[in-house]
Amino acid sequence: MVTLDARQRAALAAICDAFAPGDGAALPSASALGAVDLAEALVAGLPRAADRGRLSTLLSLWDTRLMGLYLGTGPRRFSALDAATREGALLRLGESAYEGRRVLFQALRALAMSSYFLAPGPTGSSPVWAALGYPGPLGVRADAPRPPLEPLSPAADTTFDCDVVIVGSGAGGGTAAGVLAGAGLEVVVLERGGYYDDADFDGGELSGLRNLYAPGPTVTAEGQVALVAGSCLGGGTVVNWSTSLPTPPRVRAEWAECGAKQFDQPEFSDALRAVSRRLSVNGAHSVASARDAVLERGLRALGWHVDALPRNVTGCDMGVDCGRCGSGCRRGAKQSVTKTWLADAAAHGARLVTRVDVRRIDVRDGRALGVRASTPGGHDVTVRARAVVVAAGAIETPALLRRSGLANPNIGRYLRLHPATAVWGVYDEEIRPWEGGLQTRYSDEHSDLDGAGHGVIYETGPANPAALQGFMNWRGAAAHLATMKELAHTAGVGVITRDRDFGEVRVGRDGQPVPHYRLSRHDAGHLGAGVEGAARIIEAAGARRIYSSHQAGPSYEPGKRGSHEEFTAACRSAGYGPGQCAIAALHIMGTARMGDSADTSATDPDGAVWELPNVVVADASCLPTSPGVNPMISIEATAYMNATRLAARLAA
Ligand SMILES: Cc1cc2nc3c(=O)[nH]c(=O)nc-3n(C[C@H](O)[C@H](O)[C@H](O)COP(=O)(O)OP(=O)(O)OC[C@H]3O[C@@H](n4cnc5c(N)ncnc54)[C@H](O)[C@@H]3O)c2cc1C
Repeated sequence: MVTLDARQRAALAAICDAFAPGDGAALPSASALGAVDLAEALVAGLPRAADRGRLSTLLSLWDTRLMGLYLGTGPRRFSALDAATREGALLRLGESAYEGRRVLFQALRALAMSSYFLAPGPTGSSPVWAALGYPGPLGVRADAPRPPLEPLSPAADTTFDCDVVIVGSGAGGGTAAGVLAGAGLEVVVLERGGYYDDADFDGGELSGLRNLYAPGPTVTAEGQVALVAGSCLGGGTVVNWSTSLPTPPRVRAEWAECGAKQFDQPEFSDALRAVSRRLSVNGAHSVASARDAVLERGLRALGWHVDALPRNVTGCDMGVDCGRCGSGCRRGAKQSVTKTWLADAAAHGARLVTRVDVRRIDVRDGRALGVRASTPGGHDVTVRARAVVVAAGAIETPALLRRSGLANPNIGRYLRLHPATAVWGVYDEEIRPWEGGLQTRYSDEHSDLDGAGHGVIYETGPANPAALQGFMNWRGAAAHLATMKELAHTAGVGVITRDRDFGEVRVGRDGQPVPHYRLSRHDAGHLGAGVEGAARIIEAAGARRIYSSHQAGPSYEPGKRGSHEEFTAACRSAGYGPGQCAIAALHIMGTARMGDSADTSATDPDGAVWELPNVVVADASCLPTSPGVNPMISIEATAYMNATRLAARLAA
C-alpha cells in the first residue's frame, strides 16, 4: 500500500485535470468530481510494490523543471504551464517515437480517464454520465434472492484437511470443484476474491471493478496489451459476456497433436457436452442488441459470414440489465460457475473459502502435501490434501507453481492473449451500446488468414463509458469529450486475434507474476487486417464516422471525408506497437499447457505438472494453443476432463 504525500497528490490531480478538465460549465474537472481520489485508490490497489513505487516516484518528479525538459516544455514546472501547454505536453508524450514515453502516456491516460468516467461525483450520479446520455448504475434489486452459498472467510489461523484443495474458483476451478465433490471427494476451494451474488450487483462499473475484477497486473510488461480478468468467487464467469462457443474441430486436432490425444477424442467431446448442459448453453437468448444488429447489417451487406452466438443464460432480459452484466448479472440469469458447478460442489459438502491468497504448494519428496495461504488480516490458512488442483488463471497459476519451487522452463511460457482491439462507428440512429445482449452475433469471415487457422473473429461487446474509453484514443480533452458525447450513437466492432505466437509469465523476486508479451509481426498483421475488415463492416452498416483505437487518430466519414483506403493506410502507419493502438486481452491462456513431454509442455495429458503427479492444473493455463473462439467452454471442458481423471486416480 502506498500513501501519496501532498506533493504527489497534487501532481496526480494536475495530470488528471489535464486529461479531464471538464468543459468550464456543467462538466466538472477530474479533481472536482472526486476522480483523483479514485485514481489514488486504483494505484494503491496495484498488487506489485514495484509498480506502485514507480508511480509514486514519477509523481514526486512530475512537477519539477527536470520533468519539464522530459516533457518538452523546457525547464518549467508542470504547475507553471497553462492548460493548452499541459495538453500539448501530454499529446507529445503519446505521439513520441520512443516506446517508453508512449507507454507512460497510455498508463496515465488510462488511470485518469477511467477514474473520470467511473467517479460518481459528490451527488452519487456524475454529471459526466448525464452529458453522455448514460444512466449510471441501475441500483441493487430490492427483490433479489438471498445469496445461496455460505463461503467461509477465516478470521484466525486455520487448518483444513481434505482430499483435494482447489486454488481459484473461476471457469476452471469452479468446474473442477463440481466434478470432484460430485465424485464423493472432500473438497476445499480457496478463492482470493469475495463472494458476490444478485443482491450485490448494482449494474455500476465502479462497484463491478472494485469487487469482481483482478486489480492487476493491468497491462503486459511492455505496455502493449491491457489485461482484464475476474477475481471473485466464480472468477471470470461472473463478469464475462456469456458467449459459449465450443472448441473448433481444427483446434481440437491441433491440441491433440501437442500430445494430449484426448482433445480429439470422445472424452473431450463428452466433456464439452457435459459443460454445455450444466451451463444451460442455449440459442434462445440471442436477440440482437442494437450493436449486434448493426454488426449483422454490415456483414450481410458484404455477404460475409454471420451467425448467432449461443449463451449460458436463462431468463436473461437481453435489454437494460444484460448490458451491465460485466458488473455481475442482477437477474441471476448468467449461469456462472458460482450458479452451477460451485453450487453443486457446495451441495456435495465442499467447503468454499473466500478472501484467501494461496502463496505456495507444500512439497515433500516429490509430492504435494497441500497449500499455504494468507488472509488480508494476516492469518495463515493451511490445507492438507491428497491432491492439489491449481486453477488461479493463466497469470497467477504459473506464478504459484514457480513460487512453489517448480523448475520446468515451460511453466509460464506460451502465454496466449487473443489480442483484441475495436473499430468504432457513429450512426444517425440511437444505439445505446451499454444495453442489449452482451454478445449475440459474430463473424468468422477472416478466421483463417494464413492457411493455418490463424486470423480474427468479429464480435461486439457492451460499451459502458469507463470500459469503453480504454479502447479510445485521447487527442485532447475537448475532442475526447466530444467523441464520448456521441456514445449513445456509437457501436464498436471488436477484432479478436487468434495469436499464433506467444509471450511468457515470469515471476518477480517478490513472487508476483510479470506477464511479458510482444505482438509478433505475424499476429499484428492479422490484427491490422481485422481492423480493415471491421471498418468495411461498419461502412457497409451505414456509419457516418468511423475511427480506430490508434492514438494517432485515423478516422473517415464515408462519402464525405477520406476513404477506407486512406483509413487503412493511416492505421498501418499508426502501427500496433506498445502505446500506438489500444489492445486488450480478456482471454488469458496457455501458461501451463498440456502435452506429452516435459520438454514442450508444463503439464502432462492428465493436466498434472510433470514434477508433481498429484498437482493438476485445471484452468486456461492448460490450453495448448489459442482456441480462436471465446475460451470459457474450452476451459471448463478441459477442467472437467482433468478433474474426472484425477477423481479416477484418487479412487484407484
Ligand atoms: C470481461 C470479460 C468478458 C469475457 N467474456 C467471455 C465470453 O463471453 N465467453 C468466453 O468464453 N470467455 C469470456 N471471457 C474469458 C473467460 O471468462 C476467462 O477466459 C475464464 O474465466 C478464465 O478461466 P480461469 O479458470 O482460467 O480463470 P478465472 O476465471 O480468471 O479464475 C481464476 C480465479 O483464481 C483466483 N486466484 C488467483 N490467484 C489466486 C491465489 N493466489 N489464491 C487464491 N485464488 C486465486 C482469482 O481471484 C480468480 O477468481 C471473458 C473475460 C472477461 C474478463
